[in-house]
This record gives sequence, structure tokens and C-alpha cells, in this order.
Amino acid sequence: MSVGRIDLVRSSFEKKAPLSEPIDKRVTDIFGELVFDRAKMHKYLEPDALSSLLDCIDKGKALDRKTADKVAAGMKEWALEHHVTHVTHWFQPLTEGTAEKHETMLEYDGLGSIEERFDGSSLIQQEPDASSFPNGGIRATFEARGYTAWDPTSPVFIQGDTLCIPTIFVSYTGEALDYKTPLKRALKAVCESALPICRLFDPSVSKVYSYLGWEQEYFLVDEALYASRTDLMITGRTLMGHMSSKSQQLADHYFGAIPGRVAAFMRDLELEALRLGIPVKTRHNEVAPNQFELAPVFGEANLANDQNQILMNLMATIARKHSFVVLLHEKPFEGINGSGKHNNWSLGTDTGVNLLAPGKDARGNLQFIIFLVNSLAAVQKHNALLKASVASSGNEHRLGGHEAPPAIISAFLGRTMTEVLHKLLELPSGTPVEIAGKKGRKVGPVEIPEIFLDNTDRNRTSPFAFTGNRFEFRAVGSSANCAGALTVLNAAVADRLTEFKSELDKELAKGKKFEVAVMDVLKPVIASIIDVICFDGNGYSEEWVREAERRGLDTCTCVPDMIAAYTAPESVAMFERTGVFSGRELQARNEVKWDTYSKKIQIEAKVMSRMAVNHIIPAALEYKARLLKGLNDNLGVFGNTENCTFELKAVEEISSLVEELRIQVDELQAALADAGNAPDSYSAAMKNSGVAARLRRLRVPIDRLEEIVDNRIWPLPKYRELLFIS
Ligand code: ADP
Ligand code: MG
Repeated sequence: MSVGRIDLVRSSFEKKAPLSEPIDKRVTDIFGELVFDRAKMHKYLEPDALSSLLDCIDKGKALDRKTADKVAAGMKEWALEHHVTHVTHWFQPLTEGTAEKHETMLEYDGLGSIEERFDGSSLIQQEPDASSFPNGGIRATFEARGYTAWDPTSPVFIQGDTLCIPTIFVSYTGEALDYKTPLKRALKAVCESALPICRLFDPSVSKVYSYLGWEQEYFLVDEALYASRTDLMITGRTLMGHMSSKSQQLADHYFGAIPGRVAAFMRDLELEALRLGIPVKTRHNEVAPNQFELAPVFGEANLANDQNQILMNLMATIARKHSFVVLLHEKPFEGINGSGKHNNWSLGTDTGVNLLAPGKDARGNLQFIIFLVNSLAAVQKHNALLKASVASSGNEHRLGGHEAPPAIISAFLGRTMTEVLHKLLELPSGTPVEIAGKKGRKVGPVEIPEIFLDNTDRNRTSPFAFTGNRFEFRAVGSSANCAGALTVLNAAVADRLTEFKSELDKELAKGKKFEVAVMDVLKPVIASIIDVICFDGNGYSEEWVREAERRGLDTCTCVPDMIAAYTAPESVAMFERTGVFSGRELQARNEVKWDTYSKKIQIEAKVMSRMAVNHIIPAALEYKARLLKGLNDNLGVFGNTENCTFELKAVEEISSLVEELRIQVDELQAALADAGNAPDSYSAAMKNSGVAARLRRLRVPIDRLEEIVDNRIWPLPKYRELLFIS
């Protein structure tokens, strides 16, 4: 028996918000209980194994096989106490999701019995029989092997009955096949290039960390309604749907009271996240109806990114328990805001100094200015590449679509820092930058007001905004792996810092005073960033596009072309200098990116044509038939149809919309076939970008039909239901 749409809606409304179980522990007691963190290491490892492992984590020292066995033994003991039965290497292939292959710990003991075994070699390395992960041609059949290798800097954790070991995923020849490997290389590069600069200020610094604080946006949809929207189920977004009369115009959802069922979901999600050591901090309703956000306390970038991957998986599972489905797609609904994942990024030393926050004194401020200005110079030089790092078929609906972020990477500094930079240009080299208002300190000619430290103005249209102690990169898509963006950002900054240091050394060699030499190197850079990358105006305006072109910023809005920035000569040179990617890896990744882009659009096109033919046209024709029957009846009774102008007009409009649909579907099929015949992945992606434009046109007659056709016949849950049932 088929269930009608109205029945589905009714049943979804009847769902009661499940009460979440009260917990009898404090969150600090459950935090990290499923993570083999430092506390567990101390408890479960022998002292020599512990100190070797800590050296490996903190100082990058190699771990010998014997120690690995001891570490594995400790982990096994801990895991068995948690009733773990399976182990998996957990990695992040280029599919934008995580991969795992579970194995039990069971082995024959040689005496005919079975025992649980987990040793150093299973901890350190695995060879997943996974030849079908995207690799862009790197894994030709003769070298088809891929290896996962333990990343000791991200702790092992337990999910359900499985011990998960975070790993990198590389080919037989050592090339990266995942997101984690290049991110780790970029983090190493930025540490190595920042370190010599930090040591000029404090010789005791021995490590520079890159930090990430992500803000995950998402939608929740009732699972019964979701199940009857083929488009949502297969593509993660609605390919059709007329805008609901009420959407986000009243802005009444943003920061509003969290609905009961949603609050119960959030609580369950947060408890589980806390047990996995994810320091969840903020939750709130977002701008669009049924849209929400979760943000943790920021952390070291590699770990924070793993945690985001874990959280995205958790969200999907826990939403189901509350009869929701979580949508991580960048644009699930037309006409209202999509979802992004702001990446708050900063650099800091192991001595506790945030390099992107004003310092305690003029010297600290000089260090801050060095990192601020050089970060902006890196973003300026590689603005097209940074955009490429967030380009995907899903994010294409946001980039350039009059919604955060615009498809031009510029930076917002705020009034205070802009003024500071202008003053630095005007004043003699070496002028100290003071914090204003500090007692007992002479107020200097260039100063940062103390209040600035926690009071920065905001420009929501800027893709790369300075917010007082960090940059907020706002262009990352909600479903993306943050590593894509962070690899580019950290690599570009690393490269620029190295360049700065060598320029500085040259000036110092001329015998200049340190402060003077620094400013002599920085001044032309400051002048350039003020002219080019810094922009405080409206990023959505038409004038900005023209102005950005004049400034030489990349204004491309076509995703396949954006992606090409990865293999531009200056990008390849930068990645090779920093050791983050080889030319071959970059080429391979672009193949994967273009391919994924094409495949996603092809799937959407297939789903949409089938829905047009199987769902929409039959509903339209059914309504038309009813109208025609009414007209016939009217003719029988009154001998004419004079009083039937509504029916007549409706029949006429339905007929012409159905005809338009038929023609468009045929043309779409032809365009799909044509894209399938493209000679290479770039041209295929370009052709599929044309297919995507057709999809936008195809929804016009469908959405119009939704407005006309009898509500009781319409076969799909509507926006007003998908977005307002919670
Ligand atoms: P917003 O007002 O931008 O929505 P949120 O409070 O939602 O801010 O998120 C801000 C994020 O920035 C949090 O994840 C927070 O931990 C992170 N953050 C704060 N300071 C830093 C920093 N120095 N480096 C990186 N991330 C940071
Ligand atoms: Mg936020």
C-alpha cells in the first residue's frame, strides 16, 4: 500500500520529541573516555614505551617495532575493557568521507584455539584491498597497492565495537591518496618556516602549531519526508521545490529557541562527541529554517579536522535515532541559505603565544604584524588556489550565488588593523606598535586599542576575515573535508614566511637594526595587500567584481576552471618548494576533482529526469484529467464551459508546462550523453557544468506545476513541510 504525501506529513507531525536520558556524570568525567589519550597512555603503557611514544608524537621521532608492539599491547588492554571486538585503520580518501575496513582481533594461537591478537605491525600499517578509491591515475594496476600508516599525532578512539586507528593513505610509491597526508605535510612546512622567525623573538620556541576551529552548519529533515524525496536521498539536495511562503525572511529562526526533538538530538550528539574527546562548545539555530550549527573549542589542525570527520559521521547516525536525517550538502534548498563550515585558523607557538593576536608589548606586536601581513600576502598571491581548495559541485551553488561567500577571495581586516597598517606605512621604519591604554606605557604613534582584543567589527560578506586573534576562512563547504582548504592555506603561508625570512636576512646582513630591517621588508608588502587583497566593502556587489578584476584577483565562477588553479605554474612551484604536493600528485588530484564534479552532476541529472517523468508529469496529467472531467461534466449539465475559465486556463498551462518538461528532459538526456563522450576529465567537467545549468532551468516548469497542481495529488513533500517540521 502506498502512503500518500499527506499521510507522511501527518505521521511526521505526530512524532513526539524523545526525552533525552539525564546523565549522572559531569561532562568533564565523560570527556575523552573513548579516546586513547595521554591519560590512558600513562595508565596502559610501560614507562619506556610511553616516553618513546610521546617523543614520536611531540618531536616526530621514529617509533621502533618493539615499542610499537608495546603500545599496541596497551591499546589492546584498554580496548578489551571497553568490549571492543574489531580494529580498523580509519582514513580519509578523496571521496569526502572516511573509510574503514573492520577486522576482528581473532587469530589461531597455533594450538587449535582462537585468541585476540593486536600487535605493532597491525597498529602501524595495513594494506587495504581498496583499488577503487579515487586516485586520479596514480595507482595504475601494476602498482595498485595502497597503504594506510598510523598517524600517532591523532589519538586512537573507539566507535561502537571497533578500535579506530587514524591513518594516512598513500600509494606504493609514497604518493598521497588522501586528505590527511598533504595536511600533515603542510603543517610541518608551516612549523618549519615559522620557527626561525619566532626564535628571533623568543629562542625557547621549539614548535609552531596551526590551529583550526570549525563551525559545522547542517540541516535536519524528518526521516519520513526525506524517504519520499528521491532527490534528497540520492543527491543530498532538493532538485526541485517551490519556495515556501515563509522561509527565512523574518529571521526568526536564527538563535531562536531550539525545538524539542532537535534539542534532544543535539544533546545525544554532544554527549557522544564529548566521549570521543571532541570539545563541543556552541550550538544554535542558524538563519534558514531547520538549519543549525555546532562548533567546538579550536584545536591543533590535524586533530581538529579528524574530529570534524568523526562528528559528521556521528551526526548521521545519531540523527536517525531521533527520526531525522542530517543534510550536510552545501545547498539542500533553493532560495534560502546554504550551509558552510567556517574554518577559524591561527598559528601559535609551544610557548603559548598566538601569532595572530596582538602581543603584550611593542615587540610582541611586531611579531604579530609579521604573521598577519605575511598571511595576507600568501592569501593574495594564491587567492585563486584558495578558492580552488573549496570548489566543488555542492559549493558552486554558494560561491558566487549572492550568499556567503562570494567567488572572489579577499580579506577583511577591520578598521583598527587597517589604520595600524596605514600608519606603519606613513611612519619611519622601526616605529614601535604599542597597545594603547596600558598603564604606565607611553602612548606610541602606532597603537592597537586594548578593547580591540575582544571587540572586532565584522563583515559577513568577506570570505577571509580577521577576527582579532585568528582568520575566519568562510568559503569552506559544509560537507567538505577541511584539510583541503587548510593544506593550501598553511602551505601558502609557509612558503611566504620562508620568503620573508630570507628577505629579512638580506636586510640584516646590511647591518640594519632588527626593527628597521623588519619594516623595510614589510612595507612594500603592506602597501600591496592594502591595494589588492584587503577589501572592507560589500562582497556581493557587482562593482566589487569589476574592482576585483582591476586589482588582479581571480573572479572565475566556473568550478572546473577554478580547480585548474592547482596546476598553475606558481601553485606547483609553491607546493614543490614546501614539499606538500608533487606535480604528479596535483595532476592526479585534479583528475579526481573534475571526475567527482562530473559524476555528482550526472547523478543529479539522472535523478531529476526520472523524477520529472515518473513523479511530476504523472501528477500533472492526473490533475489535468480531473479538470477535463470537470469540464466535461460542466458541458453535460450547462451545455457550455463559460463559467470554467480557471479550469480552462489551468489545463492549458499544465499542457504547455508538461510539453516544456518533455522537451527539456530530452535535451538533458542528449547533453548527458554528450558529456559522457568528452575526451578528458576537464572537458567532461566543463560539459557537466552546462548540464548543471540545464538542471536549474528544468526546475522552473516543475516548481510552477507545484504551485498549480492540487495539493492532495502532489507526490513530493514540499519545502514548507521539509523545512518546518522539527
Ligand atoms: P562565530 O561568531 O564566528 O559564529 P563561533 O563561536 O561559532 O563564532 O566559532 C568560533 C570558532 O573559532 C570556535 O570554534 C572557536 O574555538 C574558534 N577559535 C577561537 N579562537 C581561535 C584561534 N585562535 N584559532 C583558531 N580558532 C579559534
Ligand atoms: Mg558560529
